Amino acid sequence: MKVILLGTAAGGGFPQWNCACALCTRCHRGELPARSQESVAVSGNGRDWWLLNASPDIRTQLLAAPALRPGPGPRDTPVRGVLLTDAELDHTLGLIILRGGTDLTVHAAPPVREALTADLPLHGLLDRYAPWGWHDSTAPGGFALDGGLTVTAHPVSSKAPKFMGRPASDAPWVVAYRIEDPATGGALVYAPCLAAWPDGFDELLASASCVLLDGTFFSADELGTAVRSGDAGQALMGHLPVSGPGGSLAALARHPHLRRIYTHLNNTNPLLDSSSPAGGAVRKAGAEVLPDGSELTL
Ligand SMILES: [Zn+2]
Ligand SMILES: [Zn+2]
Repeated sequence: MKVILLGTAAGGGFPQWNCACALCTRCHRGELPARSQESVAVSGNGRDWWLLNASPDIRTQLLAAPALRPGPGPRDTPVRGVLLTDAELDHTLGLIILRGGTDLTVHAAPPVREALTADLPLHGLLDRYAPWGWHDSTAPGGFALDGGLTVTAHPVSSKAPKFMGRPASDAPWVVAYRIEDPATGGALVYAPCLAAWPDGFDELLASASCVLLDGTFFSADELGTAVRSGDAGQALMGHLPVSGPGGSLAALARHPHLRRIYTHLNNTNPLLDSSSPAGGAVRKAGAEVLPDGSELTL
């Protein structure tokens, strides 16, 4: 299985257009590498590619990845579809950029599909360009992807997106995916949004070879400190911090066999600077932060 990290920043990207925090300012000056909004491409055969989330940056991300170029026919594309982990704008607005792509398939949990039909009505809008297949990613038994990959979805939180104009159900709004290449036995767990360490997640990681994990915030009070927004917002944003006794880095220490990669970095996260103490702590613990465009083989 080939994996390309198309983008590795949280919603807003790095730098964020309306942010002059210390890290964004250093990025504007060219001192830190910019990152586009989080999205991944996976393929079992190198010809059929699937996107994990579709960020508003998807056009430039696809153009930057030679494996995802169109052809050989004039309107052929190796992109077969999108697996959504949730309905957040930074993970779904890229679907609009892909409008008119023929024969694409979207895999999403039922609450996500309902939100994209009623509240952010992309589904009907996109069907007027070219009808796509929409599938329940949480159907029992999992599903197969063209190119030889098998997938199971695992509910990880019930945090609904902010744009919802109605009380959200307590349904599984956010899922993680386990994507396996039966030919190699390589398995990726993709979990860019984790509100807390989910029940059963250790068992899921025990059967994987690599995890792409929510690295939105390094510390629990980071958002309040970096942009003086008041730290109440961060807990409500539904992201488990990396550091601290209850953080994800401590939990990942239980899985030393696993390749552990943080993604979905918020523009306030000190991990954006690899020379920071936070960057050193993550490396020392055996986890990684990789730049946009990084490729893995599992
Ligand atoms: Zn996001
Ligand atoms: Zn910033």
